[in-house]
Amino acid sequence: MSEALSGPGSSSEGPGGPSIDGPHDPEHDPRASYALEPEHVARLTDRVVSTTGTTVQVFSPINGAPLANIPQSSEADVAEAFRRARVAQAAWARVSIDERARILHRLHDIVLDRQAEIMDLIQLESGKARKHAFDEPLHIALTARYYARTAHEHLDPERKAGVVPGLTKVEVNRVPKGVVGIITPWNYPFTMALCDGLPALLAGNAVVIKPDAQTMLSALIAAEMLEEAGFPRELWQVVAGPGRVLGTPIIERADYICFTGSTATGKIIARQAAERLIGCSLELGGKNPILVLRDADIERAAEGAVRASFSNAGQLCVSTERMFVADAIYDRFVERFVARTKALSLGTGLNWDADMGTLISADQLETVSAHVDDAVAKGARVLAGGKARPDLAPYFYEPTILEGVTPEMTCFGNETFGPVVSIYRFHDEADAIARANDGEYGLNGSIYTRDTERGRRIARQVKCGTVNVNEAFGATFASIGAPMGGMRESGMGRRQGSEGIHRYTESQSVAVQRLMRLAPMLGMSDETYAKVMTASLRVMNKLGRA
Ligand code: NAD
Repeated sequence: MSEALSGPGSSSEGPGGPSIDGPHDPEHDPRASYALEPEHVARLTDRVVSTTGTTVQVFSPINGAPLANIPQSSEADVAEAFRRARVAQAAWARVSIDERARILHRLHDIVLDRQAEIMDLIQLESGKARKHAFDEPLHIALTARYYARTAHEHLDPERKAGVVPGLTKVEVNRVPKGVVGIITPWNYPFTMALCDGLPALLAGNAVVIKPDAQTMLSALIAAEMLEEAGFPRELWQVVAGPGRVLGTPIIERADYICFTGSTATGKIIARQAAERLIGCSLELGGKNPILVLRDADIERAAEGAVRASFSNAGQLCVSTERMFVADAIYDRFVERFVARTKALSLGTGLNWDADMGTLISADQLETVSAHVDDAVAKGARVLAGGKARPDLAPYFYEPTILEGVTPEMTCFGNETFGPVVSIYRFHDEADAIARANDGEYGLNGSIYTRDTERGRRIARQVKCGTVNVNEAFGATFASIGAPMGGMRESGMGRRQGSEGIHRYTESQSVAVQRLMRLAPMLGMSDETYAKVMTASLRVMNKLGRA
């Protein structure tokens, strides 16, 4: 789905007047864009490793205005990117952990200082509302700070108990994998470019990244900021092109693959990584449930449900598409949820006015429309939204709430990845949990209840990698010390926390044996040795030694 580039859907003089004004007119300056200074675009696109001489033009989903011509990489360019990355990694691995952490701290400040510029690019490329664009520099600042502050905790050699107390000294080293391949989607293009890459760099690796074709500029400004912070330029290589073309050459060369995207693509990546016996982490799709229990604070739950369902127009891996509400409060909750949804302001301006922006592409609009139309044709009721809004932007779709969704409807179990949520009534808790666990996905869940102990107890029964009690998704996602990722078909491996950095290292155990060897000594027979060892094992067990 992501491979199709957004085409010009309307001119900048479309309904509602121009959304983007820019300094140059593309009709007279071939490098120009309605939205961005050509020098700025050239500074960014220069970072793509490309010798093909071919470019692909990208357009803003806000109004179809051209944004940039992105140089395309060939398989030879991917090979060159890995060659450069390997040279840079060898030197980088010798840089102290303290120095690497210092650079991460600087990145934290740069991202906060340049947040307006980052948000502009994200909005122009993706069409999301500014408040959802802000989540990206915010998440990267949190990630940079967390890993910078905890670098030693994750990366220092770790002492372990040796087999012979006092005589076997063991330590575990964290050796960088080498060059990590990262493949990212378009929905959070700045944060996805960096959040998995920062721990890779901190652990002593280099990165070759292939961002999604629709959002290259947001990924390229991330690369620029890494260099500004002090990471060697060659340590972070960017290639551009369709994933189905560049994916294989990347996986053939990488020492580890970190992928974020659809479950279908994740399975292809996993098969290719298996062929080479390299590790991979896969952050994939979801059909995420919310449970609103009968003791929930209804206003709080309705507010959270809006954010859970419509952040970034639902184009968010952890956003909610299924809502299970207790019978006793169903009508009151639905009334508040629908009212709040209808009150959302929709728009595409590069300001803070809109609560929700547009979908990113014609493909996205087609999927969302098809899911809603199919549900309505089979008897679902539309409580809010339910239609496209070309008057706002070419691919805009209203925040939509459906009731009466049944298993034969496409949106019952398939990820829509848009602003569409189905709402269901439940009578008993066990039934609600079973329905929340239905299907193959298991990314994120949330539970609204005034009894947080009960919330925690139910969370343990929900088959999702993250579960938020009385919050939509941000409580887990923004708690960088806690692992984030999917169970079942929502993924493999975790980002964030110690798992998020240890995946980029090989653990290496080094044991130094002193005085006594691990074999019969002083003429002892094998039989006597076995008896001595048996006796000592019994003693150790009694002493409670591991
Ligand atoms: P996608 O799988 O089509 O594309 C994602 C990336 O993979 C792009 O860079 C694309 O070019 C590349 N790609 C495509 N085919 C490839 C191949 N054969 N080999 C290698 N790379 C290939 O995903 P999408 O539809 O663009 O993104 C939306 C999906 O991503 C949704 O399912 C969403 O839930 C998921 N997602 C998950 C998370 C998470 O953290 N779990 C975050 C964001 C998005």
